[in-house]
Amino acid sequence: MRFAPSPTGHLHVGNARTALFNWLFARQKGGTMVLRIEDTDVERSQARFEDQLIADLKWLGLDWDEGPDAGGPYLPYRQSDRLEIYREHAERLLSEGKAYLCFCSEEELQKERDRALAEHRQPIYSGKCRALDPAEAKRRRVAGEAAAIRLKIPEHPIRFHDIVHGDVEFSNEVVSDPIVLRSSGMPVYNYVVVIDDALMKITHVIRGDDHLSNTPKQVALYEALGWPVPEFAHLSTILGSDRERLSKRHGATSIANFREMGVLPEALVNYLALLGWAPSGGTREIFAPAELVKEFSLERVTPSPAVFDVEKLYWLNRHYIKESSPERINRLALAYYARAMVLEMTKHHGIESVQVQVWQPPQPVAEWLAKVTQLLAPSVDRLDQLPERASLIFRYDAKAALAAPENAEVLGWPHADAVFTRFTSKILEDELARAGKLTSERFKQIANEVKAETGAKGKELFHPIRIVVTGSHSGPEFDKLIPILEEGSHLTLPQHVLSVRERVEKFVEARMGQVRVG
Ligand code: GLU
Repeated sequence: MRFAPSPTGHLHVGNARTALFNWLFARQKGGTMVLRIEDTDVERSQARFEDQLIADLKWLGLDWDEGPDAGGPYLPYRQSDRLEIYREHAERLLSEGKAYLCFCSEEELQKERDRALAEHRQPIYSGKCRALDPAEAKRRRVAGEAAAIRLKIPEHPIRFHDIVHGDVEFSNEVVSDPIVLRSSGMPVYNYVVVIDDALMKITHVIRGDDHLSNTPKQVALYEALGWPVPEFAHLSTILGSDRERLSKRHGATSIANFREMGVLPEALVNYLALLGWAPSGGTREIFAPAELVKEFSLERVTPSPAVFDVEKLYWLNRHYIKESSPERINRLALAYYARAMVLEMTKHHGIESVQVQVWQPPQPVAEWLAKVTQLLAPSVDRLDQLPERASLIFRYDAKAALAAPENAEVLGWPHADAVFTRFTSKILEDELARAGKLTSERFKQIANEVKAETGAKGKELFHPIRIVVTGSHSGPEFDKLIPILEEGSHLTLPQHVLSVRERVEKFVEARMGQVRVG
């Protein structure tokens, strides 16, 4: 099996799925996974994209046995380093009469194509140079005339088997004699892919179905070279929610995008596996990588297009966030807080360009942020949502809370005023709260006293208290939240965290202001 990306851009979900299906198949069958870099398009290929591709594949948890970085018995694994091999085999095809020299210029070919299109014919190469006498053609080339090498497509239909699409047949009438080597000496994709797949002993070619129409040319090449044809499996197109081919227009499509958003690799792998594949029987959807290796089968890959449903990806991500070790999530979360804090600092203090990735907060801050993460992580789809969720800790605006339409109902409840008055005065008198050291036990006692004195219970009691403490009537449990607020108020952070008492003071002030205005 091989994954053969072209380093012309970022790894996107379509290619990542191709890599994944190859990897699953290889790992299940005990096969060999090869990574081959297809960089014969010199203008568009860039070394940085190759590095990025490798980093993205590794991040997804995929590995390979042979490749430019891993070595292997069929070196080299980068096509730009294999040009000699391609030339050698092209000359062999020529000398065996399976290919011929073509002297048609780019302009002539373009004219031919235009004419065909104008006459509503398929733009197939006329085969003009096929008729040239080979000895005469050779003489012209030796004399310095620019010549490409073209394969002779056989005079019979081209058939091959595809594991996903079944038996496929192309009439030779619709397949041009493909160029193998351009007059510049640069080989062409359809040719190099065959040479490499054959020499690297690839038994199964699993790739996107945008290559299905290239396959007859490749099959003809295998036959001309006298090599066995591998099995093919062409994976369906991935569509966006509007059923158009998935593209940047649909939002995040690159693996790097999802990683930056705080999607875990196992969530993405699980989701990509479900794009075109489903397990036999049942409707199970959650599969850890090792389970996928066990369950996957190419026979169950559907030929119909798969629709990329980002909400389902987030649903899986939520699951994997909950399953992950707290240490891992806490560590990953740091980068998101760092970014948010840097943004905040830039806004307020004009500080710019802080290296976010390497942020190492002091130990007490890291430990405290870990508690914040554990409090909020169960409620996020993606880790990049954590700083926004944490605004209930970092931001407090009593006036806004009193004016918020979503709080209006609670504020109008019969017991609300009594709860506000009792709760705030108790907090203001409390020794622990005064020191910023309110414990959840003490908080509970105070809440019970308020309950006894006002007769408010359940949400009548807790929703107003929540508005005082966080500005919102819903949110995480007080048991965990109270100590986090108190502890945070003693730490040196880019944004000061208000203690419960400080919040109560602000609330009382805002309420008095409101009463006076009223
Ligand atoms: N380099 C090709 C691509 O990225 C790979 C095609 C193949 O797998 O044969 O589309």
